[in-house]
Amino acid sequence: MTALTFYGGINEIGGNKVLLEDGGRALLLDFGFPYKRHKLFYEEYLKPRSGAGLLDPLTMGLLPPLEGIYREDLETAALWRGFRDNPLYRRLDNVGGILLSHAHLDHSGHISFLRNTIPVYSTAITAFITKAIQDSGKSDFDQQVCYFNPAAFDCPGGWKQTAFISGNVAKQQRQFCIADMTRDDLSASAMQFWSSGFWEKTPRQKELVSCPLLSHTNCAFNLRCFPVDHSIPGACAWGIETNSGWVIYSGDLRFHGKRAGLTRRFVDEAAKLKPRALILEGTNVGRETNVAEHEVYENALRAIASSKGLVIADFPARDMDRLLTFLQIARDTGKKLAILPKDAYLLKTMRLLDPAIPDIAEDKNLVIYQETVASKYPGLWLRNLFQEYESKTVLANDISSSQDQFILCFSFFDLNELPSIRPKPGSLYLFSSSEPHDEEQEIDFRRLHRWLRHFELKPVGLPVEKDGEWQIPDEERGLHASGHACGPDLLDIARKIKAEILIPVHSEQPGFYAEHLENSGIRVILPAPGKTIQI
Ligand SMILES: [Zn+2]
Repeated sequence: MTALTFYGGINEIGGNKVLLEDGGRALLLDFGFPYKRHKLFYEEYLKPRSGAGLLDPLTMGLLPPLEGIYREDLETAALWRGFRDNPLYRRLDNVGGILLSHAHLDHSGHISFLRNTIPVYSTAITAFITKAIQDSGKSDFDQQVCYFNPAAFDCPGGWKQTAFISGNVAKQQRQFCIADMTRDDLSASAMQFWSSGFWEKTPRQKELVSCPLLSHTNCAFNLRCFPVDHSIPGACAWGIETNSGWVIYSGDLRFHGKRAGLTRRFVDEAAKLKPRALILEGTNVGRETNVAEHEVYENALRAIASSKGLVIADFPARDMDRLLTFLQIARDTGKKLAILPKDAYLLKTMRLLDPAIPDIAEDKNLVIYQETVASKYPGLWLRNLFQEYESKTVLANDISSSQDQFILCFSFFDLNELPSIRPKPGSLYLFSSSEPHDEEQEIDFRRLHRWLRHFELKPVGLPVEKDGEWQIPDEERGLHASGHACGPDLLDIARKIKAEILIPVHSEQPGFYAEHLENSGIRVILPAPGKTIQI
């Protein structure tokens, strides 16, 4: 018998955590950061205490009480005593890996807490993105996916607290097992990349205990990895062969992006396996249609071509397709696309795996915006980046003095640069990102509107408040393509794969599937927190 237990992604978008057990073996399907539940208790200056290790996330129900899967350096001797009478408490010693669908934190973030003897299975691109995100960002202790700071008892000077204080301990990398390529498959440029030490080192060079990448074939399960189209490169769905038949896990997907063909191939291949169960995302079940990425291109091109001054393009972090859409528009309108250092770092990383990604050094329309940094010694990754691309660096002054020459890739969180840029009144703020539920950080639209009014920027595609709801004006729609398939597309996937059992996940309306798949021969089972579904 195969058992599936859902600990996250139930009646919520993101936070997927699924336990699959089969004949003494077990796997986790994603282990995401539960943004919705996190926000119920925490905000910017009220966070789980890193010094308390597992105690806060376990107590607040952000992590399931599964003894044996979490990092031992975060456990105190008495920790589990407090959770053994929790109805969800279990001891689990047989988890052989985590199948990661993509590098969005609502799927990957809580890998941070997992024992590093549990390897992460992913595509090569996903592994590299997790590293690029950490190298170039300030990841909190509960979002350290690729490598983490082991906690150490180190309380000098008479401190009597029981909390963990991170000492001078080297960072520990997790074991990643790559499912879509082996070292031998890699192209010449990727080999260069390998020897560049990107995987083995953090930007500070020495402080990482690294784990060389392995292949996925060492897994106790027979696995299939199906690349799919989503709003971040490297996304995949998974197939797991169990004693009850194949279990398919969709991750997040769509048919209307640049890699739609991948999703179609996944559906065909998964159907051939005649699966016992399909765990299917349902983010956009309520939407009838999609805006496609090429429509975003057309609509944004029109808006930008007719604008006179500076253009600010606001789109989701790590959405490389959107970045490339705006790069094309920059080429078509004779402008330069100014990207932020963290996007440049990701672009550079991805190019080593995918030669089709443009080379920042060579591309005439790409420049990197250097933020006004107070410190003389910014992060080493940042210094290295600006050294490598010295001739491609622009400052606030460069933008300010030739405003009509630039499309600046800023989001809400970069607006504090505007006093240095002083955009001319009437400059365009193009909002190409409208999935607040899916955002890693929720945007305060009221505050964003205030910034735009203060600098007299003209918003387009930005939600405005109407009867207590934030909505994009009808005539300004079509500037964002969602990372998720719409309702009819999702039903199409369900009917084509035609698993005997369908379990919805990552959805606020999981009942949609039961309603629409009646008499289809597919049994829909709704998951409940911590409840085991035998298949
Ligand atoms: Zn996602």
